[in-house]
Amino acid sequence: MLCLLYYLNTKQPFSLPRNESMKGDNSMKAPFRATFILVTAAFSLLVSAAAIVYAQSAVTEPESYFGYSPGDDNRLFTYDELTGYLKTLESESPMIKLVDIGTSTLGRTMYIAFISSKDNIARLDELKAINTRLALDPDIPENERESLVRQGRVFFTATLSMHSTEVGPAQAAPTIAYKLITSTDPHVKAWLDNVVYMMVPNHNPDGMDMVVAHYRKYRNTKYDGCSMPGLYHKYVGHDDNRDFITLSQKESRAISKIFATEWFPQVMVEKHQMGSTGARYFVPPNHDPIAENIDAGMWNWIEIFGANMIKDMTRLGQAGIAYSYIFDNYWPGSTETCMWKNVISFLTECASVKLATPIFVEPNELGVGGKGLSEYKKSVNFPMPWKGGWWRLSDIVAYEVSSTFSAIKTSSLHKDDILRFRNDLCVREVNRGKTEPPFYFVFPVKQHDAGEMAVLVNLLMEHGVQVFSASESMHIGNRYIAKDDIVVPLAQPFRAFIKEVLETQEYPVRHYTPDGKIIYPYDITSWSLPLHYGVDAFEVKSYSKKLYSSLEPLSGTFRQNKIQKDHKGCAVFSANNNESFKAAFTAMEKGLKVQRLVTDVHGCTRGSFIIPRKETEKTAFAGLVESLAVKPAFVSGITDDDVRDITVPSIALVETYYHDMDAGWTRYILDTYNIPYKVLRPSDFETKDLSRDFDVILFPNNRKSTLMTGKYSWNGKEYMSTYPPAYVKGMGKKGLENLLRFIDEGGIVGAWGRSTELFMGLLSIGEKDEKEEFQLPVGNIADQMKKKGLNCPGSLVQVELKPGNPLTLGMPGTVGVFYRGNPVFSTQVPVFDMDRRVIARCPEKDILVSGFCENEELLEGKPLMVWVKKNRGQAVLFGFSPQFRASTHATYKLLFNTLLLPKIK
Ligand SMILES: [Zn+2]
Repeated sequence: MLCLLYYLNTKQPFSLPRNESMKGDNSMKAPFRATFILVTAAFSLLVSAAAIVYAQSAVTEPESYFGYSPGDDNRLFTYDELTGYLKTLESESPMIKLVDIGTSTLGRTMYIAFISSKDNIARLDELKAINTRLALDPDIPENERESLVRQGRVFFTATLSMHSTEVGPAQAAPTIAYKLITSTDPHVKAWLDNVVYMMVPNHNPDGMDMVVAHYRKYRNTKYDGCSMPGLYHKYVGHDDNRDFITLSQKESRAISKIFATEWFPQVMVEKHQMGSTGARYFVPPNHDPIAENIDAGMWNWIEIFGANMIKDMTRLGQAGIAYSYIFDNYWPGSTETCMWKNVISFLTECASVKLATPIFVEPNELGVGGKGLSEYKKSVNFPMPWKGGWWRLSDIVAYEVSSTFSAIKTSSLHKDDILRFRNDLCVREVNRGKTEPPFYFVFPVKQHDAGEMAVLVNLLMEHGVQVFSASESMHIGNRYIAKDDIVVPLAQPFRAFIKEVLETQEYPVRHYTPDGKIIYPYDITSWSLPLHYGVDAFEVKSYSKKLYSSLEPLSGTFRQNKIQKDHKGCAVFSANNNESFKAAFTAMEKGLKVQRLVTDVHGCTRGSFIIPRKETEKTAFAGLVESLAVKPAFVSGITDDDVRDITVPSIALVETYYHDMDAGWTRYILDTYNIPYKVLRPSDFETKDLSRDFDVILFPNNRKSTLMTGKYSWNGKEYMSTYPPAYVKGMGKKGLENLLRFIDEGGIVGAWGRSTELFMGLLSIGEKDEKEEFQLPVGNIADQMKKKGLNCPGSLVQVELKPGNPLTLGMPGTVGVFYRGNPVFSTQVPVFDMDRRVIARCPEKDILVSGFCENEELLEGKPLMVWVKKNRGQAVLFGFSPQFRASTHATYKLLFNTLLLPKIK
């Protein structure tokens, strides 16, 4: 604080901060000075050349609250400390108000800190009503609209550090809040008259505390700044930014609600960090491809925000700002999904240090890659490359302060236009919904999995989409709509979102040069909710007044569960419904007897779950049924010959310490379906008695090298681990042998993706004379396919399922599976005590269902799921992810059936 006042009082001329930050060892000794100069300079140059005088009121400075300046080397504060500081500001200033927006997965309260002028904070409810009107009402009379625009304010949301190792944005939050609140500069005051800044101080509070605890544990040791073992979220880690369509996690729901149903801000930024040796800062716009359902005006506005950021930051001497590379604007799973709901939204990415430990980057270590920027050289989208040197958390804080101030300034400069744009979009999208097909999406009331339709309908409503049911039957063109079918009209303000998530994806192929290379996607290419959830849906391409007037809006929670009061017979939960598996596991947990039909009987399909008549009179049964979206059927005349008893298997789930998101997602699904399990680490395989302790072992997608050695390898080359040594352990040869013995003795393994490599090639059990060598009758030919040109970056491909097999119970004959091109299985005629069955194979044509797949014909007839037997054991190998990011509900049953597979006697 002394330095800050000194600078302000003496008004010394400003020197370029990057020179300060690149002085090498000398500047390392003066981290406080670097922080102060960068942050202060960012602030002063942005506002104007006018002298700045901070309020000398009783508002607590960050330094005196935390005992150091946020951004200082080796210092990180926790979530409680961060929110504690913001609450202190709230008690001291009328310019900040904290609003509770929900709880995190582990129970921490999440907040928005509203920061604006005193008057705006006092009329937040009124301003919120204006936001809502402009966002959702396409019919505001022009005079009234102009009046709303004048009275309204731009609401600018920033979500900070959802990726918890990207600590900088959240560590900059106190500085940003303090500076905004205490400034007496007329320019800043004018911005805050026009703009309400909505800071989500941390999008992932649980992860923030995990990372801070980890950093403090290893600070000043040999492993200072090392990678944190495990996930920085209970379930999903880095994939918390892949959840904004399915909204499976509490944090995603809390944030999505801000844009979908609650505050309707007009602008948002999500703040991230990237690697250490590339550009220093990424600002919008992103690179091609762009989402085709988005209105042209959106891209214009994003460019204005980005152009102002690079201009304002470059003016401050903040080097290394780049735009329009690597990140594309095609895929809609991130926080920026609100763009499809008419919010001008973008991300920023700052170069990282080792959490809070500074790094020194040699100029020769600097480089860029990926689409849009191939050389670390002066370019139109990278006009002032950073030259290398020291890079520290204080630099990140300074860049975050200046980019935030720039976006607030841009919001203020264009206040009226931004508010008009928001309502223009509402008008345009509603109009498109009335004039451009498709006009409606329809989900027939009769579904293979009726529970999943309820899940989908409730999800759409949570997204702020208006959903209806048809009150009468009718034909429209060649389509028949039955009474009670679910109808989603496109004439809605969030039309772009509705269309994006309900239609089938077609990748917008673009090339770098005419006939040149294709611009490949940043992430996956399929997210169509009906296809991913296994819900039948169709588009209606002609506009119908009759249908429009027959629509009845849905509200509350949609369910089709109207239980008969005087039921008789056994309760039958159809195997077709995912939620029946949840009912079965929950019932077993509650101590109810559960059976599975071994044959079709009385209109109930094989594999359905039966709760005998006697059990249905227990209180636990009523509680169970109440929680479901679809009622069970009650059937008399089911005999003991029709069923087999089932019990909860003892399940192990293999999770590595390597930010193992796929294992985390699997835990999430098992928890959601009330399926109990224990986590096994690869190193446990050496010592555990697997056959005694477990019936089923699950291997989520993982590299064989990570499972075997605990180290990452790529193209045959092993890389040094950045984790503390205690976490760098694999199964080893002995662990693998124990695993194979577990199978041989009657155990069941479920494995998908790269983990299936564990079971390929020559394997052995025992030693010397006892040694048994064998090769399971399955192989992986993905490398050959790749050489021939197969490229499937994450798409839905169709498979035909083996009917009548215990693994496909409850499944339709064909299904779209989420696939990334590896593995592609082959099988062989077996020898000795082994066998195999292809459970899922690609058809001869029409393989790609949704997304992008080059040379899809290479997959013709290829197995993508194989059941293998060895002695009394079984392995179920999936080429696809049955539970990908909790977004592929259509294939969950293949996983659940694996867990319930009868053992070979
Ligand atoms: Zn990130």
